Amino acid sequence: MNPWIREIATLSLLLLAAIIVGVLGKILVPILFVLLVSILIRQFYQIYRFEKWIDNGGSGKYPKSTGIWEAIYFHVYRMKKREKKRKKKLGKMVDQFRKSTEALPDAAVVLSPNDEIEWSNKAAMKVLGLDKSDKGQRIPNLIRFPEFTRYLDNRKYDDVIVLPSPVDPNVMLSVRVVPYGAGLRLLLAQDVTQLKKMEIMRKDFVANVSHELRTPLTVLKGYLETIKDMDDGESGLLSNSITQMQSQTERMEHLVDDLLLLTRLETQKKKAKCVDIPGLLSKICSEGASLKNSFGRIDLKLESQAKIIGVEEDLRSAFTNLLVNALKYSSEDSIVNVRWYEHQGCPRLDVQDHGEGIAALEIPRVTERFYRVDTNLSKKQSGTGLGLAIVKHALQNHEAKLEIKSEVGKGSCFSCIFPGRLVCTDEKDVVA
Ligand code: ADP
Repeated sequence: MNPWIREIATLSLLLLAAIIVGVLGKILVPILFVLLVSILIRQFYQIYRFEKWIDNGGSGKYPKSTGIWEAIYFHVYRMKKREKKRKKKLGKMVDQFRKSTEALPDAAVVLSPNDEIEWSNKAAMKVLGLDKSDKGQRIPNLIRFPEFTRYLDNRKYDDVIVLPSPVDPNVMLSVRVVPYGAGLRLLLAQDVTQLKKMEIMRKDFVANVSHELRTPLTVLKGYLETIKDMDDGESGLLSNSITQMQSQTERMEHLVDDLLLLTRLETQKKKAKCVDIPGLLSKICSEGASLKNSFGRIDLKLESQAKIIGVEEDLRSAFTNLLVNALKYSSEDSIVNVRWYEHQGCPRLDVQDHGEGIAALEIPRVTERFYRVDTNLSKKQSGTGLGLAIVKHALQNHEAKLEIKSEVGKGSCFSCIFPGRLVCTDEKDVVA
C-alpha cells in the first residue's frame, strides 16, 4: 500500500477512535489534546532519529521505522547507495586516466589559473625536472626561460614554443598549453630533439648544396657568354642552344639565390634598424616599373609615413616578390595597386592586382616551398616557387602576418600586417 494512504488511514482511525471514546466518556477535548501531543512527540522522535542517522553519514542500514518514515528512510538510503556507486565508478575512471597519463611519453602538467602546478605525470619529472613536492608552486619559477614566461602570459593557445629541457640542454622540447575546465590549463611537452636535428641537417644540406652550386654556375655562365660572343649565327641550332642554356643557367642561379636567402632567413637574424618603408616602397616600385611590360602599371599610394623596426634587406625581398608576382600573374595592361597605410593601429601593405587570381583551395599552399599553381599563365611565367616562402619567412621574422585574399578571374590582394609596436620614429627606437 502507498505509505501516504497508510499514514492517513492510521491517523484517521486514531482520530475516529478518540472521537468515539471522547463523546462516550464526555472527555472529547482532553482526549484530542492527548492524541495531538502523542502524534507530535512521535514525529519529533522520528526527526531526531533521522537527523542522528544522517549525522553519522547515513551509512549502513537505516533504523527500523513505520509508515511514511519508513518510506523516507528507504528513499534516502537508495540515493546514498546510488551516489556511492557513482563515486566508485568516477574514482575508477580518474584512476584509469591517471594511469594512462602516467604512461604517456610526453610530459603533462595541470596548471591552475595562477600557473600553479596541480598535477604532473612521470614524464614531466624526467623532461621538465618537476618533483612531487613542486605541487602548488608556480611553474614560471621552476622553468626559468623568458620566452616560456612570455608564452604563458600571452595565453595564445594556438602557438607552440620550442625550448631546451631544464634538465638537459641537449634535449629540445615542443611545449604547448591547452585550456580546459574552469580556468585550468594542461601543459604538454614533447621531445622533438630528433626532429630539430633533422631540420638543422636539412637546412645545412640545402645551404651547402646551394653554396657549392654557385661557383660552377658562375663558370658556366661565363663560358656561355664567351661562346655566345664567338657565335657567328651561322648555325641556328647552336644559337638556339646557347640561348636555352643561358636562360636555364639564369633560372638555376635564381633558384640558388632564393634557396640561400630562404636558408639565411631561417637561420640567422640580421640586426634590425628603423626602416623607412615609404622610401623603400618608392624605390621598389620604380625598379618594378622598369621590368619588362610593367611601365605605368604600378599605382603606389603612401597613406602613412610609418617606419618599421626591421631588416631592410629582408623587407625589400618580401615586398619585391609580392610586386613582381602581382605584375607577373596579371595581364600586361592591368594596374597593380600598392598601398601603405595604417589599419586598427597596425601598419599594413596591400599589393593588389587584377589578374588571374588563385583558387580558394590553393591559397593555403602557395607559401609552401616550390609550390606553383598549375594555371596557363603560371606555366608560361618563369619562377622558382620560392618567392612566397621567402615572403612568409621574412614577415615571420618581423612578427608580421601575410594575409592572402583572392578570387579566380578577379585578382589577388597580398597584405603584410605589422604589429603596431614595430613603428619607429628615429634610429633611437631601434632594438638589437
Ligand atoms: P613563383 O616563383 O612561381 O612566382 P611564388 O612562391 O612567388 O613562386 O608563388 C607561388 C605560386 O603562387 C605561383 O606559381 C603562382 O601560381 C601563385 N601566385 C603568386 N602570386 C600570385 C598572384 N599575385 N596572382 C596569382 N597567382 C599568384
